Amino acid sequence: MSRAQDRVVVVGGGVVGAACAYYLRQRGRSVTLIDLGAFGRGCSHGNCGYVSPSHALPLAGPGALWRTLKTLFARNSPVKVRWRFDPAMWRWFWQFAGRCNQRDMIQAGHAIQSLLNSSRSLYDELTKETLTDVEWEPSGLLFVFRSQRGMDHYAEQDRLLKSEFNLGATRYDGPDLLELEPALLPGNAGAWRYDIDGRLRSDKLMLAWRRALERQGVEIREQCELREFVADGRLVRRITTSGGEIEADQIVVATGAWTPRLRRLLGCSVPIQPGKGYSITMPRPKVCPRFPMIFEEHRVAITPLTSTYRIGSTMEFAGYDSSLNPARLRLLRDGAALYLREPHAEPVLESWYGWRPMTPDSLPLIGRAPALENVFVAAGHGMLGVSMSPATGRLIAELVSGETPHIDPQPYAIGRKL
Ligand SMILES: Cc1cc2nc3c(=O)[nH]c(=O)nc-3n(C[C@H](O)[C@H](O)[C@H](O)COP(=O)(O)OP(=O)(O)OC[C@H]3O[C@@H](n4cnc5c(N)ncnc54)[C@H](O)[C@@H]3O)c2cc1C
Repeated sequence: MSRAQDRVVVVGGGVVGAACAYYLRQRGRSVTLIDLGAFGRGCSHGNCGYVSPSHALPLAGPGALWRTLKTLFARNSPVKVRWRFDPAMWRWFWQFAGRCNQRDMIQAGHAIQSLLNSSRSLYDELTKETLTDVEWEPSGLLFVFRSQRGMDHYAEQDRLLKSEFNLGATRYDGPDLLELEPALLPGNAGAWRYDIDGRLRSDKLMLAWRRALERQGVEIREQCELREFVADGRLVRRITTSGGEIEADQIVVATGAWTPRLRRLLGCSVPIQPGKGYSITMPRPKVCPRFPMIFEEHRVAITPLTSTYRIGSTMEFAGYDSSLNPARLRLLRDGAALYLREPHAEPVLESWYGWRPMTPDSLPLIGRAPALENVFVAAGHGMLGVSMSPATGRLIAELVSGETPHIDPQPYAIGRKL
């Protein structure tokens, strides 16, 4: 168990590392946070900013494998895999395929939901004083469908979410939907509305985290890459970084999609693949949507913010590819144009990509690295890092401090069977 005066190094300045640093500092630990680049510029920078308890279901479920396979061969599919010789990627898909059944889906769903619900409550607290000026709005979220088939298919999911997860959505069919959201084009079949969801502006969230951490006295070191652990048996005494050595009593590795690159240091396998997504940020169009919304059939997400407007999504398993592919960006624009009266505005303020840290069961890895006594991992939050990070940070702080955790950590254990 750690002591209050312990020095903790958090590796990774994304939304997960920031939340870990915050809750550790709240418990009196002396915290240094390092990032190989700039704080908040990884996947946490340009995402859609949904805080979504409605997203309890994992990606892997009955039929998911078949749906994914079908999209792989379609041109301009929002989901894309760049097939190549990469044993880790093949293992990932093998493990994903093994989870495409009802029992595993429900089990993972409950573990996802624990983090989502706890985080949603924590955001209510945090946005009052700690994370201000982040454009937080508990606005709800719409799942919009163009086709009746899509609407009817989602009705099954809605039933499951209601019965298993107590997640109630309100259904709006054609004309009712237009009345609710006049920014949509006529002709959409309908939508499901989740009032429990909210949205914020992700880059402002990271600025707010930075302010909060600096106020607390957390030291942030940028351009500082974790390179090695210097250990005495199973106990790491200090870490070697691109900026020199740092003494540490506890280490939290929150390096998102980069975490597999630290596999040797951690001494365990890290089942994470980068799932590349894109976003385009622009000024608010004149006919701007009231609600954040997801166009499920085209996998496009819209975030109307107070200051700007963002179109995001798509998923590409292409390794650590850092190119900004114009065709993928076009897919977002074209998708939005099918649903919205005024889908875009000029000028484009930012075109962006991020690597989602995807695990095969959609559950993050949170807990102690099995081979080391004082190293913890908090990574693999996939499509829901913003939505799950406050509870992750709190859970890590509880585990590091030896407190009774507010959520059962067992489903997120590193080295769990996949
Ligand atoms: C298009 C898109 C839309 C999304 N929309 C949403 C959404 O609406 N809601 C939601 O909840 N989630 C969303 N997500 C997912 C969310 O963005 C991620 O889950 C989340 O940002 C992951 O946070 P992280 O802190 O784990 O990783 P990151 O933010 O990537 O941070 C990891 C950090 O670790 C640093 N690092 C890596 N290796 C080292 C090292 N060796 N030494 C030091 N530092 C290191 C990196 O530089 C990086 O800054 C979206 C993602 C994408 C791509």
